[in-house]
Amino acid sequence: MDKFVSNTDERLGIFGGTFNPVHFGHLRVAVEVRELFSLDAVIFIPSAQPPHKDQTGIAHASHRLHMTQLAIRSYPFFQVSTIEIQRKGLSYTIDTLKELKKVHPETVQFFYLIGLDAFLSIHTWKHYQKMFDEIPFIVMSRPVSGANKKMSLSMVTNTLVAYIQQTISEKYVHDNQRGCIRHPNKQTIYYCQVTSLDISASQIRRLIENNQSVHFLLPDDVASYITRHKIYKL
Ligand code: ATP
Repeated sequence: MDKFVSNTDERLGIFGGTFNPVHFGHLRVAVEVRELFSLDAVIFIPSAQPPHKDQTGIAHASHRLHMTQLAIRSYPFFQVSTIEIQRKGLSYTIDTLKELKKVHPETVQFFYLIGLDAFLSIHTWKHYQKMFDEIPFIVMSRPVSGANKKMSLSMVTNTLVAYIQQTISEKYVHDNQRGCIRHPNKQTIYYCQVTSLDISASQIRRLIENNQSVHFLLPDDVASYITRHKIYKL
């Protein structure tokens, strides 16, 4: 994909998630997207209550926030926002986007970072249609856990284009040259192949429950925090 052209206005990546806990899968892809899209910063936004996840086994929001803060503190281009945690209740991304736009100057350009797995269920999100008017998406590749065959770029792109045309609008077209999916009136959707790290928060929680090591799956500071606060222990 072409490196997206930079301009003088601030460009911010929004990275929403449960971060239960944050891990190297999240961190590495955010580094790569920031560089590829010349973003000034990526803002991690831990949700208060993710609407699409089973609420059992989700660590308290304050723990998830602290872990995310610990994880990003040595990297100058990452920030953590408490916007969803402060709002409390179910965290709907559309509400977060509106709030962010209100508190930032109009010149700021936002991009929403999302893994392919999460993007392919976006039709279940509140006011999902509206989101495509509000913000360009950067969809990041993510290995399918347990699958032994990697999908080729054209297979992923075809899946993505078909999904978008079916669920959002038939007028989206694939712009092969710029590596994106465009619409005459809606925001552009970018697809980005990032380093494949088959790491998930659920895998980490399972390992902890089974007293197995989580070394090299997430930052040491986060692992120590989990041990200190006995998070994810049955
Ligand atoms: P869980 O295993 O509990 O479902 P998760 O590891 O998917 O959690 P989330 O906090 O739900 O983590 O993910 C937030 C965002 O980060 C989502 O858009 C997800 O697709 C993306 N993401 C998570 N892990 C990776 C990864 N290894 N590579 C690329 N994207 C990822």
